[in-house]
Amino acid sequence: MTGSAGPVVTRFAPSPTGFLHIGGARTALFNWLWARHTGGKFLLRIEDTDRARSTQPAIEAIIDGMRWLGLDWDGDEVYQFARASRHAEVAFDLLERGHAYKCFATAEELEEMRAQQRANKLPLRYDGRWRNRDPREAPEGAPFVIRLKAGVEGETTIRDLVQGDVTVRNSELDDMVLLRSDGTPTYMLAVVVDDHDMGITHVIRGDDHLNNAFRQLGIIRAMGWQEPVYGHVPLIHGPDGAKLSKRHGALGIEAYRDKMGILPEALNNYLLRIGWGHGDEELIDRDRAIEIFDVAGIGRSPGRTDQKKLENINGHYIRAADDQRLTDLAAPFVAQKIGRPLTAEDIVLLHRSMNVLKPRAKDLLELAEGATFLFRTRPLDMEDRALALMEGQGEQLLAAATSALSSAPWTNEALEEVVRGVAEAAGVGLGKVAQPLRAALTGRTTSPGIFDVLLLLGRDESLARLSDRMATAN
Ligand code: GLU
Repeated sequence: MTGSAGPVVTRFAPSPTGFLHIGGARTALFNWLWARHTGGKFLLRIEDTDRARSTQPAIEAIIDGMRWLGLDWDGDEVYQFARASRHAEVAFDLLERGHAYKCFATAEELEEMRAQQRANKLPLRYDGRWRNRDPREAPEGAPFVIRLKAGVEGETTIRDLVQGDVTVRNSELDDMVLLRSDGTPTYMLAVVVDDHDMGITHVIRGDDHLNNAFRQLGIIRAMGWQEPVYGHVPLIHGPDGAKLSKRHGALGIEAYRDKMGILPEALNNYLLRIGWGHGDEELIDRDRAIEIFDVAGIGRSPGRTDQKKLENINGHYIRAADDQRLTDLAAPFVAQKIGRPLTAEDIVLLHRSMNVLKPRAKDLLELAEGATFLFRTRPLDMEDRALALMEGQGEQLLAAATSALSSAPWTNEALEEVVRGVAEAAGVGLGKVAQPLRAALTGRTTSPGIFDVLLLLGRDESLARLSDRMATAN
């Protein structure tokens, strides 16, 4: 039987052998969304059975990343290694009921078998040499593994939600090991037992696991357990269409947060849109995603990463974000750029500047870059291109503007009137005055609008920066 009528239970089952990369995060998101969409449950299982490769920092990075993305799981996370005795119990149960058998073949024997298969150009697989043999033929106390007695007749079809019907001939599947000779379970056994015990109804994961699904079904059927619904999701590819790899700068999601200044809601939206779509909707926030997500809508061809798209989506969420939250998020980036921690006063100013900074930034780094002029210490260090703007006519216009501003009331209207007046008197456009002013006030050639700069810096700081400049010019 396939599927269940009861509530949906999904899971994310990462192996903590590396950081949470975007492929894993997207798998987690799909599972989370399907559970939230259906009102079911989403569980987290850390597959730490590979003791040599599993690490505590990787476990922490996964949990931290999931929390950051807001992919909350129901109940406590399950650690697979802790359940090893339960896995073994199932292997022995299968043995007792004749669905599995002990195999005493030694490593050398198996190596010889494979060498022969290679020589005869046959597929490398266990030849079932202990399948029908009496275990009493084995030497007393000899080590053994437990293998599944796989069906050899007919074929197995998986009705995959993403891949459609996929069929494999049973003769292609050999009698895989369930329990190693040291009594530890194989990955294949552990996954099936855990999914069953956790009541998983939907297994949504990377399509690199599709082949495993056929083997896992062998165990499920031998145990007479409910079969889950499978959805094998194509892996994410890079912009060049090749599978995402380190070469593409494939990063852990903490790099998106800490190095690229991406907001979690933007990363979720972006990941959702890689390989899944709903008409031409691009901006899909969490509530909307929960409302419309459907596993069957996942495409069969691999989605590609798209940096531009990520930037657009992130820019959208930055503009939509609450000012206080953005201030808290941007502050460390600003501190890094100006090389000192922000004071309480700085934070207030940063917060006050948000409505001016927000529309201009596609990530928190840009937001922070846009804010640095506020916190520079006088006299400002000047970019060469800024210096160039304050030469020749620029210098004269700057002098005129400085003197006009020194007696101006510090309101948007008054400042605009004064600067426009200087431009008109000189017979030039407003931009001609704004450019050297910007250069003198920020040390840069780009900044928010000049009146915003003047207002945010305030009268004293603005006039001080201008007079620093006048002093240098004279
Ligand atoms: N632990 C496996 C992995 O990280 C996933 C297993 C599964 O989803 O069934 O690739």
